Amino acid sequence: MGSAACYHLARRGKRVLGLEQFDLPHELGSHHGHSRMIRQSYYEHPDYVPLLQRGYQLWDELNELCGNKDPGQRIFHRTGGLYLGPRDGAIVPGALAAACEHGLDYQLLEAREVEQRFPAFRVGDGFVGFFEEDAGFIRPEKALRAHVNLACSHGAEIRTGEEILDWQENGSGVTVRTRRGMVEGGHLILTAGAWSGRMLRDLETGFSVTRQVLAWFDVAADRAGASLLLGDFPCWFIETEAPYGHYGFPMTEFGQRGFKIALHRPGEEMDDPAGERTGVSEEEIASLQGVLRKWIPDADGPLLASCTCLYTNSADGHFVLGPYPGNGNVTLAAGFSGHGYKFASVMGEILSDFACEGATPHPVEFLSPQRFA
Ligand SMILES: Cc1cc2nc3c(=O)[nH]c(=O)nc-3n(C[C@H](O)[C@H](O)[C@H](O)COP(=O)(O)OP(=O)(O)OC[C@H]3O[C@@H](n4cnc5c(N)ncnc54)[C@H](O)[C@@H]3O)c2cc1C
Repeated sequence: MGSAACYHLARRGKRVLGLEQFDLPHELGSHHGHSRMIRQSYYEHPDYVPLLQRGYQLWDELNELCGNKDPGQRIFHRTGGLYLGPRDGAIVPGALAAACEHGLDYQLLEAREVEQRFPAFRVGDGFVGFFEEDAGFIRPEKALRAHVNLACSHGAEIRTGEEILDWQENGSGVTVRTRRGMVEGGHLILTAGAWSGRMLRDLETGFSVTRQVLAWFDVAADRAGASLLLGDFPCWFIETEAPYGHYGFPMTEFGQRGFKIALHRPGEEMDDPAGERTGVSEEEIASLQGVLRKWIPDADGPLLASCTCLYTNSADGHFVLGPYPGNGNVTLAAGFSGHGYKFASVMGEILSDFACEGATPHPVEFLSPQRFA
């Protein structure tokens, strides 16, 4: 979110300083792991759809700006998205409501139709499919680098290895204290991800930071030839633990080798995002493998890689975005609750609006930090 904001501010001709405590990108926060799903029929809430529509335009623009015609270099891949769940569950009716409210294209598929179209899936009893053509994935590390490089080409300064310790509004702007010294500016945008709690002082957002597991598996040995590849296979989400579920991506010839799967449900809570991370346990791997065995047996092969990543969950699962209550020179973007990356492109524009104009034409009132003030 921070790199996108730097880019949008710099391209408007503003003098911009980006401060990052680690490297860019890095593997200690929320943006690593090679892929982030992007979809428009937003079961979480239909009000996100207009933001996604602008987000899609900006991702396409970023691809063009980076000249990414070569599939291995592209930031945004359209694969289609298949969501499986009970007809009266959370995911399919939620996606349907968002699609109907905003006139989006979709197809409802019976279990048999899903298996005909995507033979790798075994669809459980009572489940139906919702297919959205205009879904896919973003490559987060690549997108972050692109935003940073473009910001710098428009004159922004980005400093890595510089931790912000605290901030204070002064009459005309903001003073920020970092490990290296003091910085003054007209406006501060706080995009500290899992470390946001430390920056918030009086705001009772009730953020919880959770450890999330992701893993990559090889194609099952007896199913060589099954195509789970980009081009043949969609991004997918299965409502395995209502209202949450497992999700994954097609296999690619770039990034991490293997078939990626993860569980979208807040995991084990972390007291300190910088604290010691436990490795991925055998039980956690076995649980992911059990899901593949049941729903996508072609992908039930040996484990190739695994890692952990952090969610910053807000109390209601919705983003916390807008002017910092009581501090007119500060804008907050946090609590992305495990579903924020797809919005990074449009967040850059929105955060830049708030910093430059004090307001944005985007409909983001429903995400305002005021609800926690
Ligand atoms: C396993 C996993 C899967 C996900 N899947 C999806 C998906 O499919 N689709 C989707 O849309 N979203 C997904 N998400 C969510 C998405 O990745 C996050 O919502 C998004 O990355 C949040 O961005 P951010 O900028 O808030 O956090 P980050 O990318 O973590 O950035 C915050 C940055 O602030 C820096 N920072 C913090 N404190 C300080 C300080 N004091 N001084 C200087 N720098 C500081 C941190 O080092 C960090 O680099 C997933 C997340 C995870 C963990």
